[in-house]
Amino acid sequence: MTTAETAPFQFFSLQVDRTRRLGPSLVRVTFTGEDLKRFASGGRDQSLSLFLPHPGQEAPVLPPLDDPDMYAILGAWRAMPDDERAVMRSYTVREQRTDPNEMDIDFAIHAETSAAGAAGVGPACRWAGRAKPGDRVVVLGPAVAANTGVRFQLPEDADSVLIWADETALPAASAILEWLPAETRAQVFLEVPYSGDRMDLATEADATVTWLVREEGAPSAVDAVRGAELPGQAPYVWIAGESGAVKALRRHFVRERELDRRRVTFVGYWRKGLSEDALREVPDETQEEA
Ligand SMILES: Cc1cc2nc3c(=O)[nH]c(=O)nc-3n(C[C@H](O)[C@H](O)[C@H](O)COP(=O)(O)OP(=O)(O)OC[C@H]3O[C@@H](n4cnc5c(N)ncnc54)[C@H](O)[C@@H]3O)c2cc1C
Repeated sequence: MTTAETAPFQFFSLQVDRTRRLGPSLVRVTFTGEDLKRFASGGRDQSLSLFLPHPGQEAPVLPPLDDPDMYAILGAWRAMPDDERAVMRSYTVREQRTDPNEMDIDFAIHAETSAAGAAGVGPACRWAGRAKPGDRVVVLGPAVAANTGVRFQLPEDADSVLIWADETALPAASAILEWLPAETRAQVFLEVPYSGDRMDLATEADATVTWLVREEGAPSAVDAVRGAELPGQAPYVWIAGESGAVKALRRHFVRERELDRRRVTFVGYWRKGLSEDALREVPDETQEEA
């Protein structure tokens, strides 16, 4: 029987320990809390659901979190008024550490607000831009490392990897690069808004990183990867970011290059013009047949 203690995904009450600006587009928020002792990130692109307070609230508003049935809690949360219940958004565990127990999430600060440092356009972006030590959040995340929130699943026979990520998936791509086995051949395309978003990435893989900087006139996602050769016999492709770009890349790899669709992982992280709440109400265009 699944109890609250054995469920693969559980609720965790955390607080902000510190924040750090990584560049014009990314803010790292480091969380702490006793609950992190039972948190178990699977690494790579481990995702979680983050519940945030609305401006003026001291803490995110959720139903009691002690029900062993996570779906019952989510149902009760959904039944609460929109302007009262916590805002839920998807994020990636950039890194989990023990001793001390800490977890980092890197937040992309949306374009129009990043340079001036003014309030962001979405509630999560706005929250991250103003986060300070002691701020409280709730996370629905993994309590076991082998969980379905890790989508980067390198096939055993893979002999090369291609990664494309925009700034929202840069935290996931960075963690994947840290995880990749030594010497793995990897071609990595990272699309970011500003020159100052380039950063050093740690990896033991044999990785070639291409930064695609929009303010420097970067080509479209498909044009950027079009010339990339996939070395070896058994490549694996991981693509995540704005869903229009992800969809175009999916078509390129599956239809034009005729890659086996089981060896490609595509995840739309956000969609231009739609909040994540609105996105949950529409079909996932990145998963349509290529
Ligand atoms: C599995 C998964 C993992 C993710 N991991 C991360 C992560 O680690 N870091 C991260 O920053 N994001 C991550 N995202 C993306 C993040 O959830 C979205 O960007 C989300 O929309 C941000 O919420 P918001 O409240 O700021 O904006 P919303 O209220 O959702 O949207 C408001 C408006 O802002 C636009 N918008 C949203 N994001 C951006 C953006 N980056 N640039 C420009 N406009 C935008 C929307 O199209 C909408 O018009 C992830 C998404 C998924 C599905």
